[in-house]
Amino acid sequence: MLALGIEGTAHTVGVGVVDETCRIRSNVYEMVRPKSGGIHPREAANHHAEVVVPLISRAVDEAGVDLSAIDLVAFSQGPGLGPCLRTVATAARALALSLDVPILGVNHCVAHLEIGRGVTKCEDPTLLYVSGGNTQVIAFARGRYRVFGETLDIGIGNLLDKFAREVGLPFPGGPVLEQLARKASKLLPLPYSVKGMDVAFSGMLTAALAQRRAGASVEDLAHSLQEVAFAMLTEVTERAMAYVGKEEVLLGGGVARNARLQEMVARMAEDRGARMFVPAGDLCIDNGAMIAWTGLLMHRSGARMDLAETLVDQRFRTDEVRVAWR
Ligand code: AMP
Ligand code: MG
Repeated sequence: MLALGIEGTAHTVGVGVVDETCRIRSNVYEMVRPKSGGIHPREAANHHAEVVVPLISRAVDEAGVDLSAIDLVAFSQGPGLGPCLRTVATAARALALSLDVPILGVNHCVAHLEIGRGVTKCEDPTLLYVSGGNTQVIAFARGRYRVFGETLDIGIGNLLDKFAREVGLPFPGGPVLEQLARKASKLLPLPYSVKGMDVAFSGMLTAALAQRRAGASVEDLAHSLQEVAFAMLTEVTERAMAYVGKEEVLLGGGVARNARLQEMVARMAEDRGARMFVPAGDLCIDNGAMIAWTGLLMHRSGARMDLAETLVDQRFRTDEVRVAWR
């Protein structure tokens, strides 16, 4: 069975084709890169509308199949930006109707976790999901994926991207800051804000920008932002792992590509006799393959949706999903 998944919750629209053994047959994407300022939901949606059909063609071409070989269409139903979600849902409905195959809406956060389980050897991980808009610690407990900790304000990627933008660096800022951080010479103090298993980043952004205005170097600030923010994330992940008693930690989301974050979480895992898993980079960022794979899992467990059930949900919560496949 082959599923085609379409992701489009925020800045990235991606299409992936995956089979029932979680072999990634193709995974292609395009990202909006605003020339200035942040992402405007309507502009991002227009971008997605322009590229989604060519991306679908590319995904089936690269998978080496014809569209008629697709048995299931899955799409990101939420959470995310309303206009983006609606654009991608419309494309998915049209495709499923024209192919006369089932359609399933997938929770984006659950998909980050499931693709990690699918492509790495982990079985029952605690997921540290670190992306542009989202920052959550998620684990499976009592039949659902539950959020044990999350950001109380902005996502970690947003912190990095906003800081980068304010100091004149291009979007996305995370990878640029990672390189600059290697050239730092000192650690500057920034507010460490952990409340139980939750974190907050906006105070750190304000403090870092104030230090920049006072003359601190971008390199030192990049390093300090990473050290403090990643230490916070590592702490709350460890607390969640101890609480739920899990011995695997999985990273997901674009910021999971950061080598320093991986190093810190790996060290924490090692210290407690646990193991860390990180999917390949293009399966960490928002991507269609994770949506396709989660759609396959749902379908296999008996999930079906009629068109009325494919309405998008901007605030689709991780623990609303009935996880019948586990
Ligand atoms: P996502 O929202 O999951 O697609 O991921 C996009 C986010 O990941 C953006 O905020 C990027 O700045 C961030 N990101 C990508 N690569 C890195 C990296 N190497 N280090 C830190 N952040 C990164
Ligand atoms: Mg994401």
